[in-house]
Amino acid sequence: MQNTKEWIPGWVHESIRLNHKAFSLMCLFLEIVTNLAPEENLHDENSDYDESMMGLFKVLSNGLFHLEKRAKEKKCDPYSELIIFLGKLLVEQGVFPTRENCAFCDEILFERGDVFLVTDHGGFSCGTCLTHLEEAITTNQKEGRELWELLGVVANHRYQELSELKIEYNEVAHILFHYFCYQFHFKASDFKSLSMVL
Ligand SMILES: [Zn+2]
Repeated sequence: MQNTKEWIPGWVHESIRLNHKAFSLMCLFLEIVTNLAPEENLHDENSDYDESMMGLFKVLSNGLFHLEKRAKEKKCDPYSELIIFLGKLLVEQGVFPTRENCAFCDEILFERGDVFLVTDHGGFSCGTCLTHLEEAITTNQKEGRELWELLGVVANHRYQELSELKIEYNEVAHILFHYFCYQFHFKASDFKSLSMVL
């Protein structure tokens, strides 16, 4: 045991705990990471430190740091914060939706207005290919295009460089959450904090 005379915390989530939206987001982030992280067997002497979880915890710590900063500036939009967090998490977990090219015909989507997220195919589709799909979990065109733009912003900037995403259709946050659930075989109802956020 060690005694210390003085203890100065390096970082405290001072503003998050005074802002109920930010606090609910923090609960949701923690719930998401808890669900993704495997349980550590502390009694297994042969288990080495598992580095595969480091990326996950890096996203979490970046997310909490970002949330604290936004709450301190009193500019904490739950839709924007959740989309940034999920986008970074999907990149880190290797299930970020195929975005630059159509998941079916490989056409570059940059200049196409008709872009749709097809959740059960793990990526975006052009309008032409979408018409050939008989059954698919997909967005409408406006939301598809907006999510395409937003995920581009998230993927191409470092976490702390991002401020607030300009979101026209708040539904895109729900769509992205369902995309995340689909990838990891969760149900939205598995996350108790979700209803406090969206
Ligand atoms: Zn296509």
